[in-house]
Order: sequence, then C-alpha cells, then structure tokens
Amino acid sequence: MVIVGGGISGLTTAHRLRESLGDSAQVVLVEGSSQLGGKIVTRRLGPHLIDSGPDALLTRSPAVGALIDDLGLAGRTTAPAALGARIWSRGRLRPIPSGTMFGIPDRVLPLVASRLLSPVGLARAALDLVLPRRRRFPVDPSVADLIGSRLGAQVSARLVEPLIGGVHAGLASELSARSTVPDIETLARSSRSLYFGIRRLRRRSATSGAKAAGGPALVTLEGGLIGLVEALAAPFTDEDLIVGDAAADIARRASGYVVTTTAGRRLEADAVVLAVPAYTAARLLARLEPTLAELLAETVYADVATVALSYPRSALVGPLDATGFLVPPEEGRLLVGCTWSSAKWPHLADDRTVIVRCSVGRRGDRRWTALDDDALIRRVHDELVEAMGLTAEPTHGIVQRWPRGMPQYLVGHGDRMTRIDERLRTAPGLHLVGAAYRGVGLASCVADAERVGERITRHLLSGSPSD
Ligand SMILES: Cc1cc2nc3c(=O)[nH]c(=O)nc-3n(C[C@H](O)[C@H](O)[C@H](O)COP(=O)(O)OP(=O)(O)OC[C@H]3O[C@@H](n4cnc5c(N)ncnc54)[C@H](O)[C@@H]3O)c2cc1C
Repeated sequence: MVIVGGGISGLTTAHRLRESLGDSAQVVLVEGSSQLGGKIVTRRLGPHLIDSGPDALLTRSPAVGALIDDLGLAGRTTAPAALGARIWSRGRLRPIPSGTMFGIPDRVLPLVASRLLSPVGLARAALDLVLPRRRRFPVDPSVADLIGSRLGAQVSARLVEPLIGGVHAGLASELSARSTVPDIETLARSSRSLYFGIRRLRRRSATSGAKAAGGPALVTLEGGLIGLVEALAAPFTDEDLIVGDAAADIARRASGYVVTTTAGRRLEADAVVLAVPAYTAARLLARLEPTLAELLAETVYADVATVALSYPRSALVGPLDATGFLVPPEEGRLLVGCTWSSAKWPHLADDRTVIVRCSVGRRGDRRWTALDDDALIRRVHDELVEAMGLTAEPTHGIVQRWPRGMPQYLVGHGDRMTRIDERLRTAPGLHLVGAAYRGVGLASCVADAERVGERITRHLLSGSPSD
C-alpha cells in the first residue's frame, strides 16, 4: 500500500492501516517535502513554540478522541481559555454576541448590545421571527444566501463573513452552505426561523457533545500540534516513511499501481491513497484517470498566510480579555483575523510577553502575496496598532506563507464530490483523502482518513484485492 502525502490525512490513514493490518501488509508513505505534517508546522517565536498552520483541534468527534487516546496524547492536551471573540468593525473591536453560532445570533438583546448592526440592520434581522418559511429552497444555496435571506445583508456581512473568513478563508457569498455549514443548512430547511432553529441546534449539540467527549470542544498540544505528527510517525521505520521524495507519476500495472518518485523509486502497490492537495492529485492522475483529474483540478484554493508576533506586555493599553478578533471583508483590511494566543492558550501566557497570531488572505484578497516578509509584518503591525492600540514594536515576528492553502467548498462542491466518487468507483484501489473533499478542519481530515483506512482494511480482509 502506498500513501502519497504526509500531512494529517496521510499520516492518520497510515496509522489506521497499521493498527488494523499489523504486519500483514506493508504501508509505505511518501512525503515530498523535507518534513512530515503538511499544514501542521510548529515554529519558534522567541522562547515560545507557535503553530503556524492549524493551532486547534476539534475534539468532539469520535475519530479525534480515539486518535488522541490511541497515541497516548490525552495528558498533553490543553484547552483554550473560556473567553469570547471580537469583530473589528467600523473602527472598534465589538464582542461577538453571546449565543451566536456560525455568525447566527440566537437572541436579539446581545446582538443589540454588540452594536455590530445599524438600527435598520437590527430591524431586518428581527424579521426572521415573522417571515414565512422560504417557498422555493435552492438545491445548494450559498452561506450568504441561506442566512441573508432570513436575517438580512448586515448579519451576513458583519457576522457571518468574518467567521467564514476566519475558518475557511472564503466568502459566504460563494461557499456552499450544504458543504461548509451542513448543520445550519439542515436546520434552515426544517425550521421556519433561524433564531429558533439555532437555539434547538445549540441545545442538541450541547447534550450530544457533552455525551460524546465530556471535555473541551477545542484543544491544542503543549509544545504545538507537531506533537500529533511526531506521535503518528513514531512507530514507522525509515523504510516505511520516505520523506523528501515526491510522487511524480502513477501508472496501472496488472493488479494495482506503480508510483514513481522524483528520485526514481518505483513503489508497487495494490492500493494507492492520495493524501495531497487536489491540484497535486489532479497532476498525478492526469494520464491515468483524465476525467477524475479534471474534476479535481476544478477545486479552488485561497492563498493564506499567518504572521505571529510577540510584543512586550507593556505595549498593551487594555486587558487581553478575548481570544482575539475577526475582520469582515467589507472593512478592506489586510487582516482576516488575529488570535490573542497569550490569552487563548494558557501555556502561552507570559508575564512579560504578548503573543498574537494573525491571518491574512482570503478568497478574492491576495494583496499580501505582493509583500515580502518585512513589509507584511509592518502592515500587520500597523493594523494591530489601529485595532488594539499597541504602543511598541514587535520583538519577534514569523511569517508562514500558505499559497493555495485553503480549499474552497464553493456552491456545487457536493455535486462535484458525487462525480468524483463515481469516478473513483471505476478505479479500484485508488483513494483520495484530505482537506479538499469532506471537511477542511483537522477533525474532518482525521475522520476522512479513518473512513478510507477502514474501507481498505475491509477489502483486504475480505480477500478482494482492492476497492
Ligand atoms: C493557516 C491555516 C490555519 C488552519 N487552522 C486550522 C485550525 O486551527 N484547526 C483545524 O482543524 N484546521 C485548520 N486548518 C486546516 C487544516 O490545517 C488542513 O486542512 C489540514 O491540515 C490538511 O491536511 P491534509 O493532510 O489533508 O493536507 P496537507 O497538510 O496539505 O498535507 C499534504 C501533504 O502532501 C505533501 N505532498 C504534496 N505533493 C506531494 C507529492 N507529489 N508527493 C508526496 N507528497 C506530497 C505535502 O508536502 C504535504 O505534506 C488550517 C489551515 C491553514 C492553512
């Protein structure tokens, strides 16, 4: 078995296969870059270790809980502080109204208090309570269409867009509600009012979340999420993990496939799992499966970057009493969001230093790509001074660029996935896993890897050569 790509998706697939098949099948993972982890990168910022890609793992998914337990990492997890977040809107950092889910408020009063909306915007949002059920529900509405049609354009622009930008680096007007916020899409179909629907959903997920995990919804690892990568890779030998040699081609052989690498290795396998970005999978499959490759090549990505900065504590003019802030695209800022890491993560709290981690870049906004690291740090710092009133220069700064870093589940993503799955059914032994398909977050990647690992195991154990 060959797995191409050593990010969380490839490593979790390898782990799952090793657990279920033991020594009865050889699993080889090929990673093209010089290190494992893909988007999971932990770097040093002065004396602190900072995640420059994902910094939090959603644990209320059975697959993630099981993986953390399997790897013996439960004792190393740490939960974020129970603080709210803000939105930088019209010159001020305003609290995200309590009770908000995916940017949808469940009560009117906190929304009024946040002053995020104008009186007209508030009145329009309140119409959700009396508007009749939507008569013709689109097959695959965008997030903005789904929420804006009930709560108005201001809720969409000032509450939903910043949250969607923070998580997906995307635009609510383009992203498929069915593929990015499936729970909200389901409730919008079943309940007349989004306010009431969101209250029901909140009650349900509070009960089931508590039952499923009994712990915090989000965690990180002290020392950074690279600890997860190291734990996943630890049981494998150098023969099983080929790092620094990229897959260059995949060809079919009598039964199964041959993966050729840039260094000229020929790896024969009954099954090949592509755990690489969709554009790389498209390139690798261009000769072998041209129709599938074309579908994969249609996947749109946003270019993003993170900028982590540390400041002397004395640079703060007020308390760090939130986890950070998000910025709506209508503000025209470079910043998409800023995590107040020192406040969010207890292990990064420090009497003398304040650490913030900013993100820039979202679909339709590539301005940051024209800036070199120093200019990018300067621009981000200038915006932080405006937003937070910082009074000193940063003492350390690191920039991590993620060109084509965030896959976008645009309207039509679900249908494209159906066609991708149809093509895969005609290519036995070929599997796709990763952020481009069934969820961008680490938890979704882990669940997807479990699904693929299980499917391969089932077929091997049942004696059929592949799926
Ligand atoms: C800035 C940022 C912040 C994020 N924050 C969070 C967060 O807080 N929480 C969360 O849950 N998610 C977050 N995400 C999303 C999450 O990190 C990613 O979706 C996830 O890590 C993707 O994992 P993957 O294994 O599918 O792909 P990747 O991590 O992209 O791994 C693919 C691997 O394939 C390798 N590769 C590529 N081509 C080849 C080849 N030809 N041969 C061999 N190997 C190859 C690459 O080098 C890479 O290692 C964030 C993403 C970004 C960019």
